[in-house]
Amino acid sequence: MLYADIIIDISHEQLDRTFQYRVPEELESVIKVGAPVVIPFGQGNRAREGYVVNLTTEPNWDPAKIKPIARLKSDAVPIESHLIALAYWMKSHYGATMNQALRTVIPIKQKAAPKEKKVLHLSLDEKQLQDIYTDLISRKRHSIPKQRLLEALMEQPDIPWDVVTGKLGIASTIIRDFEKNAWITIESVRDYRNPLGTIHASKRVEVNLNEEQEIAVESFAADYDMGIRKPYLLYGVTGSGKTEVYMEMIAHVLSQGRQAIVLIPEIALTYQTVMRFYQRFGEAVSILNSRMSPGERYDQFERAKKGDIQIMVGPRSALFTPFPDLGLIIIDEEHEPTYKSEQVPRYHARETAVHRAELTGASVILGSATPSLESFHRAQTGEYGLLKLTKRVEERALPQCEIVDLREELREGNRSPLSRRLQELLADRLQKGEQSMLFLNRRGMMGFVSCRACGEVMKCPHCDVSLSIHRDGKLHCHYCGYTTPMVDKCPSCGSKYIGGFKAGTQKIEEAVQKMFPEARILRMDADTTKGKTGHQDILNAFANEEADILIGTQMIVKGHDFPKVTLMGVLAADMSLNANDFRSGERTFDLLTQASGRAGRGELPGNVVIQTYQPEHYSVVTAANADYEEFFKQELGYRNMMDYPPCAHMLLISVTSLSDTEAAGKAQELADYVRTNYPQVFLAGPHDAGIKKVNDVYRRILYMKDADYEVLVQIKDALEGYNRDHSRYKKASIWFDFDPMSGF
Ligand code: ADP
Ligand code: ZN
Ligand code: ZN
Repeated sequence: MLYADIIIDISHEQLDRTFQYRVPEELESVIKVGAPVVIPFGQGNRAREGYVVNLTTEPNWDPAKIKPIARLKSDAVPIESHLIALAYWMKSHYGATMNQALRTVIPIKQKAAPKEKKVLHLSLDEKQLQDIYTDLISRKRHSIPKQRLLEALMEQPDIPWDVVTGKLGIASTIIRDFEKNAWITIESVRDYRNPLGTIHASKRVEVNLNEEQEIAVESFAADYDMGIRKPYLLYGVTGSGKTEVYMEMIAHVLSQGRQAIVLIPEIALTYQTVMRFYQRFGEAVSILNSRMSPGERYDQFERAKKGDIQIMVGPRSALFTPFPDLGLIIIDEEHEPTYKSEQVPRYHARETAVHRAELTGASVILGSATPSLESFHRAQTGEYGLLKLTKRVEERALPQCEIVDLREELREGNRSPLSRRLQELLADRLQKGEQSMLFLNRRGMMGFVSCRACGEVMKCPHCDVSLSIHRDGKLHCHYCGYTTPMVDKCPSCGSKYIGGFKAGTQKIEEAVQKMFPEARILRMDADTTKGKTGHQDILNAFANEEADILIGTQMIVKGHDFPKVTLMGVLAADMSLNANDFRSGERTFDLLTQASGRAGRGELPGNVVIQTYQPEHYSVVTAANADYEEFFKQELGYRNMMDYPPCAHMLLISVTSLSDTEAAGKAQELADYVRTNYPQVFLAGPHDAGIKKVNDVYRRILYMKDADYEVLVQIKDALEGYNRDHSRYKKASIWFDFDPMSGF
């Protein structure tokens, strides 16, 4: 007798366990782990859907009382068994119900109606066809469409239905008549949508890897051939040829009959990137992106499962492509915060990729010019292999980068958003007819308070992150809830130039236009890119040199190549430096490095001007010097001192409710539970979330820190149990976020 453990397909905490059913005899030979099934559930034996997560010959209790499975659910997608194991790991590692985790690894649950292609096949031989044709046209008032279809079949015995009804303009009733007469048969063939179907690739330019690239590929391949599978960090400066290295590694894995996944941040998933993979690997490549319909996504997963494709390129969700023998996962720009999911389970694609790779015997390549603290730390401790590319392929010089002290500008009486040095360089570029970009760093506009005379920023004395000004007029710490009244004088230098930092792209545009009336200016921000193509239109116009200056937010620094740009001005580096989370120094270093990379991409040398109130801050100094390793050393020191990841781990708990009393009550309950049962663990809160009330939902948060991730997992499990069985506040819900990526 065979029994199946089944997960019920409802995301409800009370049902978050397996239920055992008997496998009926007729299903014994076909049922598999991962199969979708229909089962009678509860007292009324209502039909419910679920997934088999385990098969066993050992019943859990009295076999006579175990109900049988009703049937296999034929129109749902089965889950690969190792993806079930992965979902289980995500559930326990990040916090979720099993069902939520399963839905993440199978994003497309329902089979989309398959797109079929119908084809007409001629069933007559040549003579029969000729006879029918002669007979038809000998009649005086015969059907012209019939004549046309017969003529078409004489030329070509197999014709797609679409061509007949479309190009030939023949009604389907006539086709059905032909079928009834047994002149033709109609066959359906499954038409898998191919998102790259319309691409016509130009021929690929062969490249010979340089020495550093060669070493990276060879050491990976040597390990691989010896059966060593592990994660590697490919730390390579911008333009060092990482993508070429990825492609060689993929070729190596493909030659062993295995498959590869390439993750790319959605914003970088451009036509050009996809083309490079398509040119190299042709039909073996498919893509996923957020604009695809569920049907298209489903088809790509089917093609992967059937072995029609070997490489999937896509954003975070492409990680769950059900390849039968996955051999390699590549994560490009691995430091990007978008690799962390904002839905439960709040998984990080990097950690999840490493775990999936362990389950399938694959390796992982994490590529970046500015690696996450996590990855570089692991590469240093030897947990990850380290592969380095230190040289730009074309040996182009880095732009010349200078830091301007905005406090000095104020002292000299310059209160415009542009420093005198930046004005001077802008005038020079306008006169030479070269292009400039002005980047307004808006990340962290949450309302930090700083002194424009000395650069002092108001910070939490406990957490060492910036305080934010709230509507109540007080300064708040979003980590621990510390509050203090707003100040009207700088506590450090006594200046009255202390306050919130306000600057918008529109204001900057007005100021620049006033200074340079003849300049042609484009602005790119959330307002000017509202339309569907707004974003691309602005970039195209700037690339076509329809403007001299492009002003914009983060959108303008990500990966666009404008060879005529020779000046990049960063207007306020402090913004992201003062974002109210512990990763603000890291984000600032990334942004400044990327921004610097925008100037001097072409033949002409470039200049970068970084304006800041904190010219001595290590994120600014090391970015200006293009010195990642020095940045890493300094930043790790801070993380270490404050017990922030990667030196320790953090667990953030959000409690939400429509009732403020419920949210506050439950948050306090959970905090009390942790303080009583885990007194050795650092706990802050509960307190109001950064934005206390959104859409009528009240939110309270608390967070914990501990060196041991597993301790935090234990606390999460205990709190889930407590919440389910003992909480007095039933109208509040909780979710968990491990090692959060942004301020909260
Ligand atoms: P990264 O991803 O590190 O920024 P890319 O892989 O995009 O760098 O490479 C930058 C450019 O250099 C691309 O146009 C690429 O085709 C080219 N390139 C890379 N490696 C070589 C090589 N060995 N020889 C010549 N050109 C190369
Ligand atoms: Zn001051
Ligand atoms: Zn604090």
